Amino acid sequence: MFRVLNCFTQEHEFGLVVLAAVFCVIGCLISFQLVVRTRRSTREQKFGWLFLTAVAAGSVIWTTHFLAMLGYEPNITHSYDPSTTLLSWFIAIIASVLALYVALSNMKYSLHVGGALFGAGIGAMHYTGMSAIMVAGTVEYDAVLIAASIVFGMGLGAVAFHFCPQDTRLKSHALPTGLLVLAIVSLHFTGMGAVLIVPDATISVPESLIAKEFLALCITATMVVIVGTGLAAYTIDHSSEQAALAQYRHLALHDTLTELPNRFQATEVIESWIKKAEDSAGNLAIIAIDLNRFKVVNDVYGHSTGDKLLKKIAERLGNNLSGNEFVARVGGDEFLAMVLTKGNESEAIDFARKLVALISTPYEYEDRILSVGASCGVALYPQDGREAEELTLRADLAMYRGKVDPVENIIRYDATMDEQVRKRSELSLALREAIDKDELVLYYQPQTDVKSGDLVGFEALIRWNHPERGVVSPSEFIPILEETGLIVPIGRWVLETACKEAKNWPSHFSIAVNVSPAQIADMDFAKTVHECLINSGLNPKQLELEITESLLMDDYERTLHILRQLKNLGVRIAMDDFGTGYSSLSTLQAFPFDKLKIDRSFIQKLDASEQSATIVRAVISLARSLKIPVLAEGVENIEHLDFLKLENCDQAQGYLISKPLPEYFVKNFVERSGKKLVIDDEIEIEALAKVS
Ligand code: C2E
Ligand code: CA
Ligand code: CA
Repeated sequence: MFRVLNCFTQEHEFGLVVLAAVFCVIGCLISFQLVVRTRRSTREQKFGWLFLTAVAAGSVIWTTHFLAMLGYEPNITHSYDPSTTLLSWFIAIIASVLALYVALSNMKYSLHVGGALFGAGIGAMHYTGMSAIMVAGTVEYDAVLIAASIVFGMGLGAVAFHFCPQDTRLKSHALPTGLLVLAIVSLHFTGMGAVLIVPDATISVPESLIAKEFLALCITATMVVIVGTGLAAYTIDHSSEQAALAQYRHLALHDTLTELPNRFQATEVIESWIKKAEDSAGNLAIIAIDLNRFKVVNDVYGHSTGDKLLKKIAERLGNNLSGNEFVARVGGDEFLAMVLTKGNESEAIDFARKLVALISTPYEYEDRILSVGASCGVALYPQDGREAEELTLRADLAMYRGKVDPVENIIRYDATMDEQVRKRSELSLALREAIDKDELVLYYQPQTDVKSGDLVGFEALIRWNHPERGVVSPSEFIPILEETGLIVPIGRWVLETACKEAKNWPSHFSIAVNVSPAQIADMDFAKTVHECLINSGLNPKQLELEITESLLMDDYERTLHILRQLKNLGVRIAMDDFGTGYSSLSTLQAFPFDKLKIDRSFIQKLDASEQSATIVRAVISLARSLKIPVLAEGVENIEHLDFLKLENCDQAQGYLISKPLPEYFVKNFVERSGKKLVIDDEIEIEALAKVS
């Protein structure tokens, strides 16, 4: 102990020792800051940061040692061997890499083992550094003190690393820094105390060795390296953190495809603009926008074209906004726009018109001209609501109305829309219980051969016997069933019931069942049909499934696949409502339909419009060329039937022949009329007037 103290007080220049200590503290602090950064880095960056940290930490030990050495005055000629001095620096760095690698490896006691290794590294560096000193004398070492110095270094190193900081706050750095400084300093001075130099004039110190001044220069350079490393790391880290933050913020607030603001930002903006409108006593218009025919573009030209179109639309919208206007993309082909107005509804409508015009202007893309339309719903603050959510919901409601309105595509919200929504949700609740309460029934509408008048089969049509409202039409509740997904279980019930009923009929009568897109979308649909056939024992040839063109538009390939599965069961497929969809011809060519049902709107217009007659004629001849039988729906009078006879239409269905009939009438019908359907049956007409 005395030797150590003596060495410290007698043989060292105080000023330099203090400088070494101060630098050691700063260096250790920087090193721990870097350790924290290394811990936080990603796996890919980890080694880079670890190496940087090790260079700093190794250099700290080295600099502290040699600064103290500069202050070491053994009163004897001495100098430093350059290669060993350099080697000691390398040792310090390599030992630090190793120690930090272990310390940050997340194993049990890794921090302690790493800390001890770091201490051992200090020792290795120290004694290599010591062996670089050339003196005019012999150097002797005290083994006990050497061992003590290593124990200090390793022990205190392990304790210092135990308290390794978790964050960059200076407060959490104080203890580990203090301990690490103690590890370095105690090792150094104990190690120096272990040295005993016996002067020997016969030993000469070579002149080519490093002079003290040069060593001082090296030390200064290393100090600059450490501080520089710390500062550079901090700057890079800070600026990349800022950049990452800015990027995260941008991502969080923008739609990645179009770069327009996203729904999240839209919600923020609505809220802040509501305040603006309130302060300026003005209006805020929320406009929900949905593209029309975008799905067709996607289906026909593919998703990448769809994406490009969306980008172009977004670009147009984004480039044509003034300071009080805002547009966000809030869904696939849905946008939300806002405008602050001075309390004039027409300003909001004008803005919506501008947006629709921008969207609807055709786009040129790879020699193609693409065009889509848009429907808008407008809700105003404060008239239509005061909350952001309420206003967006109401704008959406109005927009849905715009989608089905044949004339106007920009609709202002009004309170009756809420009432309709309420009614719909009431209905949907009641529908959930309808099957269990036996409120659903099937009616059957006869289909006949046009030429002979023979009955050929029936179409099953669902009815809901509502306890209060009486018989509810399917056009009112099928959309609700489709929206809620209830169409899947109810559609299965329809299939089962219709198959069982048809099993009672002579085998040349067919049964047609309507199928919704949601049913086809169900992967198990073919299985369901198969089960219904097996359970009822119905011949698959008697079952005809009616699908609409819109169903084919949804997911063309998949639907075709399922239709083929159904055909393999032996079931027939009819295209319903032909002429009302988009892609009549191409779909007819793509799939071998067994029947084509001309939509009743064409038949009903036969009397009034020559154009309808032309269309019906064209459809019949088209179907004939494709060898597909045609059925005309909505045959209401004898003129319709005569026209169809003349045009060689195969089958007919409509009120002229019979309205849809409840089950007990069908039995009667089938039994009494046998094959032939008596159209002018007085009793029948009377009875039907009661049931339909
Ligand atoms: P749809 O498949 O086109 O069915 C024909 C509709 O035309 C039936 O209306 C029928 O009553 C009506 N109709 C028949 N002949 C005439 C006529 O001469 N003049 C007029 N004006 N109408 C006639 P309904 O029963 O109200 O069914 C409406 C729609 O509801 C059906 O149209 C069909 O799309 C759907 N639907 C009915 N039952 C089911 C079902 O079980 N499942 C599914 N998914 N949809 C069904
Ligand atoms: Ca139908
Ligand atoms: Ca139809």
